[in-house]
Amino acid sequence: MPFTKEFLKGRHDHLVAKKNVTKAAQAEREELHPAEYVYKERVLVQIEAAFKRLANKTYGFCPDCSNEIPEERLVLFPQAERCVQCQKEREELRLT
Ligand SMILES: [Zn+2]
Repeated sequence: MPFTKEFLKGRHDHLVAKKNVTKAAQAEREELHPAEYVYKERVLVQIEAAFKRLANKTYGFCPDCSNEIPEERLVLFPQAERCVQCQKEREELRLT
């Protein structure tokens, strides 16, 4: 378990805060640009998924390569599911 309870608690609080901001933005979706609304919706789905990973203790591990996701990435992007490398590979595959 590479992530301490404190770290996970911090991530949890951060995700909750982010979720509330996203929800607030959704509530005013009429004022949001459609693309921005779609983006916020997607972030909300990612945050929900991150909560599930926190609950089943898979949070912070990349499902593609099984490596730990660097803490710096999780600090910037707490809902990140994959490490930068695997995420990049996925996005490149999607383009082709
Ligand atoms: Zn990976």
